[in-house]
Amino acid sequence: MNLHESTPPVRIAAPTLVDAVVIGAGFAGLYAHYKLRGIGCTVFGVEAAPEVGGTWFWNRYPGARCDVESLDYTYSFSPELLDQWRWSERFATQLEILRYINHVADRFDLRRDIGFDTRVTAATFDEAANQWVVDTDRGDTVRCRYLIAAVGCLSLPKLPEIAGIEDYEGRWVQTGAWPHEPVEIAGKRVAVIGTGSSGIQSIPLLAQEAAHLTVFQRTANYSVPAHNGPVDPDYEAQVRTDYSAHCQANRKTKGGVPSRIDSGVSAMAVCDQERQAKYEQAWGFGTFSLQSVFNDTTRNPEANALAAAFVHDKIRSIVNDPEIAERLIPRGYPFGTKRLCLDTGYYATFNRSNVELVDIRATPIERITRTGVQTTDREYPVDLLVFATGFDAMTGPLLTLNIRGAGGQSLNDAWKDGPFSYLGLAIAGFPNLFTVNGPSSPSVLANMLPTIEHHVDWIVECISYAKRKGFDRVEADEGAQKEWAHEVARIAAMTLYPQGNSWYIGANVPGKPRVFMAYIGGFDRYVARCEEIADSGYTGFRFSAVGSTE
Ligand SMILES: Cc1cc2nc3c(=O)[nH]c(=O)nc-3n(C[C@H](O)[C@H](O)[C@H](O)COP(=O)(O)OP(=O)(O)OC[C@H]3O[C@@H](n4cnc5c(N)ncnc54)[C@H](O)[C@@H]3O)c2cc1C
Repeated sequence: MNLHESTPPVRIAAPTLVDAVVIGAGFAGLYAHYKLRGIGCTVFGVEAAPEVGGTWFWNRYPGARCDVESLDYTYSFSPELLDQWRWSERFATQLEILRYINHVADRFDLRRDIGFDTRVTAATFDEAANQWVVDTDRGDTVRCRYLIAAVGCLSLPKLPEIAGIEDYEGRWVQTGAWPHEPVEIAGKRVAVIGTGSSGIQSIPLLAQEAAHLTVFQRTANYSVPAHNGPVDPDYEAQVRTDYSAHCQANRKTKGGVPSRIDSGVSAMAVCDQERQAKYEQAWGFGTFSLQSVFNDTTRNPEANALAAAFVHDKIRSIVNDPEIAERLIPRGYPFGTKRLCLDTGYYATFNRSNVELVDIRATPIERITRTGVQTTDREYPVDLLVFATGFDAMTGPLLTLNIRGAGGQSLNDAWKDGPFSYLGLAIAGFPNLFTVNGPSSPSVLANMLPTIEHHVDWIVECISYAKRKGFDRVEADEGAQKEWAHEVARIAAMTLYPQGNSWYIGANVPGKPRVFMAYIGGFDRYVARCEEIADSGYTGFRFSAVGSTE
């Protein structure tokens, strides 16, 4: 496929002053352009990549695909777009999703105000002018009233803290920034470091091509079979009877997706036989339903242990070598408290004779050498090294923006003990700055297309409200932000999530404050809260008319 389905982006000159700057041109940034234009704002976009797509531009490793069903992982703002776009698979590939994003960008003419191949290097609030001053690595300086950070939650890939990468003479790649030119795998000795979602998606495909695949696993992860295939025509027909209503209904669910097989009861409320049957149904169905099929799996340790034991048994039944199966069985943290993965043939891959699993808790990696990976046990020669080592999630992309708000306060200082944000939408002390899927919103715990649309709708309505009332400065109140942070922490503490050493709490980045970064009370409750706040005249926000220099 030609990446640019029709219109390759033309490099545009950065304007000096606009109403809004949008950072990022993934799903969130593009929708922000569409909505801001709709209220008559002039907009400039800045995107580090040479094209639209965000996540789906960068993550082009073998096996990359969504793990929310495509019928739900889709924009819903245009009924015509919903009606006309057809997904070929239940879980679309990265390429198909990228094609879709390009289609949307073409169809709504969303590229025309975006400076591609350009990175925001600083954003400073100019108090006197009541404007944000945005600097880029191309030397542009753009002033704007509103700054929209649509930089993504998983857009800053991280390398592991292993010495010696610079000595390595073979090729190394990262799943989160996979090269555009072909990566030769056939006949190579390939090693993957990392067994999170990207590792689990890519390992089965790498194994099929590589001469030999060595998987370095620090933490075994829970994964359930995706059962991908063509979109089920009956289910699709049912969804399409009123697709817009289907999407609206997703905003009234905990995870932003329909609960198709959830029982709505506690795992402890049913007999063993019924529980087992329900787990089997979820395992056979795909999606994250094993986590939600009973309503207390992520809260009740007993219920959680039952779901965990079910997966452990599945792993034992799939993996032929009992010793390898035991190494693949996740231990030491509750089921689902590290991001659950969806796979196609992951555990069975370890039955292949060309695949080797190295437990780097037992034999840690000492360093990367000139020719491979040295553990405390031996050296593994490698031609291609794949780092599937995740992201500096949620706060990383925001903190690299070098944001300075009112009084010159830097966001990095404000967040040194963890991210504080009102609703994940706005940050006290940083007027007229909005974040899409910011920390303390449901973000990565829900289907992110509805959360993106919800956030952008809310932000743009808030800006529109300010304009209608003659205000030009909006900021979150410190007290409201504190209360929200308390609420986010209180709800997280009612679950088992904080017990997992996950990227949800920053555990994968040395030195990162351990704070549960997402609102876990459910997307439905979150949406209701945001609506309540807007309907009450934006409780917890301060609006003022500072005087515009426009
Ligand atoms: C492999 C993978 C699979 C996923 N699958 C799912 C799924 O199935 N379901 C789901 O709900 N979510 C999934 N996600 C999460 C996914 O990130 C979101 O669904 C969604 O694509 C996020 O869109 P976004 O526009 O908010 O952010 P992104 O798509 O991350 O876009 C952010 C953009 O901001 C740009 N940017 C960042 N910093 C700067 C800067 N300083 N200057 C200029 N530009 C900058 C980046 O280059 C990037 O293009 C997945 C994520 C990954 C990595």
